Amino acid sequence: MNYQEQDPELWNAIAKEQQRQEQNIELIASENIVSPAVRAAQGSVLTNKYAEGYPGKRYYGGTEYIDVVERLAIERAKKLFNAEYANVQPHSGSQANQAVYAAFLNPGDTILGMGLDAGGHLTHGAKVSFSGKIYNAYSYGLNPDTELLDFDMILELAKQVKPKLIVAGASAYSRIIDWTEFRKVADAVGAYLMVDMAHVAGLVAAGVHPNPVGIADVVTTTTHKTLRGPRGGLILSQEKYAKQINSAVFPGSQGGPLEHVIAAKAVAFGEDLKPEFTAYSKQIIKNAQAMAAVFEASDTVRVISGGTDNHLMTIDVSQTDLNGKQTQELLDSIQITTNKEAIPNETLSPFKTSGVRLGTPAITTRGFDEADSQEVAKIILAAIENHEDEAKLEELHQAVLKLSAKHSITEFIEPVKFD
Ligand code: PLP
Repeated sequence: MNYQEQDPELWNAIAKEQQRQEQNIELIASENIVSPAVRAAQGSVLTNKYAEGYPGKRYYGGTEYIDVVERLAIERAKKLFNAEYANVQPHSGSQANQAVYAAFLNPGDTILGMGLDAGGHLTHGAKVSFSGKIYNAYSYGLNPDTELLDFDMILELAKQVKPKLIVAGASAYSRIIDWTEFRKVADAVGAYLMVDMAHVAGLVAAGVHPNPVGIADVVTTTTHKTLRGPRGGLILSQEKYAKQINSAVFPGSQGGPLEHVIAAKAVAFGEDLKPEFTAYSKQIIKNAQAMAAVFEASDTVRVISGGTDNHLMTIDVSQTDLNGKQTQELLDSIQITTNKEAIPNETLSPFKTSGVRLGTPAITTRGFDEADSQEVAKIILAAIENHEDEAKLEELHQAVLKLSAKHSITEFIEPVKFD
């Protein structure tokens, strides 16, 4: 079947997106490049099947093979994170969080999570999200001097607002999070502790970031970031919470599970259990630290908190004449993909911001090493410093294309032909 002839409008867009992924240097910290096996599972016939319920207890017939798939995903997730219980059905990270809140809270209950401008996620209590609408949400920030989590400040706030559940975890925090400190705060105020490890889950799986499982009451994650699986969610917890979490996912907030995606999660978890994944995760951190060192050595930008222990960093561009949005657009013009990001004590609107978030999971999958990562950082700095010099920008653009050609991902991706 020639899909392009059948539907050229759609398939040409997919082909162009493929070309963009091949050519651009992808620095969005929450993105990665999955293996052909992950994509094959996700594109499989499992998409045809309804399987409401859980393995062994379905509402539909014909689920004997689906059960094998879902059990594999569950067992691998449990092994990867040393968890008693796993639910692999959440369609996304946001839906995993939604189900956990529904399992542990009633509408109107108080939650305490990290603020958006400090690096938290929308679902940690932002007013525009269900989490800030259904629940009475408060947020903690970072210590303004150190730009780090400050557990004395968090404890003080927790004592004031008396949350029923504390959310730890972030979308843009470049340091190791000490989950035991959050546990102490939660215990001091009698709150549940939920860790959303979406960003660092791959690093946790590889043992290069502390594991919150066993410390928190419940842990959520996406499966598509550092874990390098399909887009989706995962909940880990203790067996004693299995029933309430299962029913909060189905029938509480979802219908039929996406078994093709669950199969792809099983493939990814299988990959994540291999020693190569540990080596990969260590390289992610080395690459991020190599980039951060270049920025820190410059007078043009600085790295929030002075560096990184994980896969990402936010650079502060407020000393330049560009804001975060303009920097993102400038980098887009030379085919480096990033996203604008609020910095601690942000003075600009969320549409502008003073920062840009950079992450190394995708370039590390491509095979970039520390030297390549430093070159990327130097290109970014030169682009910011010469943003009005068209000739210089074109030279930097060519350097980007050369680097991405050096680490081709064509073999990862089944070629889609262009017209
Ligand atoms: N939690 C954190 C910490 C995240 O960074 C994200 C996504 O960026 C999510 C949850 C939400 O995941 P999804 O986009 O799959 O809903």
